[in-house]
Amino acid sequence: MTTTPTGAATAPAPRSPLDDAQAQLAAAVATLGYDEGLHQLLATPRREMAVAIPLRRDSGEVEVLRGYRVQHNLSRGPAKGGVRFAPHVELDEVRALAMWMTWKCALLDVPYGGAKGGVSIDPRQYSAGELERVIRRYTSEILPIIGPDQDIPAPDVGTDERMMAWMMDTYSTSRGHTTLGVVTGKPVALGGSLGRASATSAGVVHVALAALRHRGIKPEGATAVVQGFGKVGAGAVEFLAEAGVKVVAVSDQYGAVHNANGLDYDSLLAHMKETGSVVDAPDTEPMDAAAVLTMDVDLLVPAAVEGVLTEENAGDVTARIVVEGANGPTTSAADRILTENDVLVVPDILANAGGVVVSYFEWAQANQAYWWSRQEVDERLEKRMVTAWDALLEASQKRGLTLREAATVTAVERVADAHLLRGLYP
Ligand code: GLU
Repeated sequence: MTTTPTGAATAPAPRSPLDDAQAQLAAAVATLGYDEGLHQLLATPRREMAVAIPLRRDSGEVEVLRGYRVQHNLSRGPAKGGVRFAPHVELDEVRALAMWMTWKCALLDVPYGGAKGGVSIDPRQYSAGELERVIRRYTSEILPIIGPDQDIPAPDVGTDERMMAWMMDTYSTSRGHTTLGVVTGKPVALGGSLGRASATSAGVVHVALAALRHRGIKPEGATAVVQGFGKVGAGAVEFLAEAGVKVVAVSDQYGAVHNANGLDYDSLLAHMKETGSVVDAPDTEPMDAAAVLTMDVDLLVPAAVEGVLTEENAGDVTARIVVEGANGPTTSAADRILTENDVLVVPDILANAGGVVVSYFEWAQANQAYWWSRQEVDERLEKRMVTAWDALLEASQKRGLTLREAATVTAVERVADAHLLRGLYP
């Protein structure tokens, strides 16, 4: 006899990022009036790979990790997207993130489809040598489906430029020649692009400043909070402060700190480098990490992971503008609440696209073996972000849609047009 755990019949199933991604696509398909066949074509990943990664730990024990690579779409060019190392990474999460990459690349008009990869691992529990063995074995497992013309990985949560160098080396060794264009986000000394490391944060701040001005708020003296002090959040704090925005609170996975007069980026960074966290940084007061999201400020930048703004806390958000530095930080239910409360949400597929835009620049430079100056990279990034913001604002006003709806509609339409022009083979 089977038994049902108490409450299981009534408790709603938890919503996953894939539910949110599929709901966003379904809404865009309805707006565009596409038929079910085209909907399914856009909803279904082209290719998925699940791999086992046997790892010999430093202790000599062997452990088997799980890894994934999902290519959601290939219609506009090779697949593109990061690889994350995080606990509990699973296929559905990677599918959602791959779909968002497709829309992000289409929205910014970079000539790629979308992909994402991941390994279910808590990187903090592993030595550098162990992580090198994991990323090399993962690369060698997915090698048949990646390449500069096929699928180009990049860093994401829990991975960095050192790991991209190992991915590039593993791929190149197997091919018998150095192939710089197979991954982006590499060290500058090894075919990386100037400005790539800070590109996501720079892009977040370009659109955040545009959004503040759009809402009639002068950036100088405006207030902000940033959730996350990693690859995206730390740079966002730095560039917001440079633009005169007062960042009054920051959180990381260990806690949060605030200072009503504005946090000092340099001392936060120095403290982070020394201790691994912003907690107890000089000239700060500790605060509850969850409360950062509901502080009374002009701008909220969630720059950590997906699903942090939910049905439970969205009603308490008092910021006038949310700029999504992370991928998928706002659930669909939270999105509706924020819109009802007139909070302007700048969606992830625009807000954090600076990373993939400069990844595109890196790939273009690597393929031509001709390198641009930092100024060229920065100027071209800013131009793309601001142009995309202006176009999105216009599309949302013209169609009477939220920024997220308009962004998804624009991107989906571009991908669908590519499908239709190519036709169905055979
Ligand atoms: N992982 C980043 C993102 O989610 C960058 C992807 C890339 O550069 O390919 O957009």
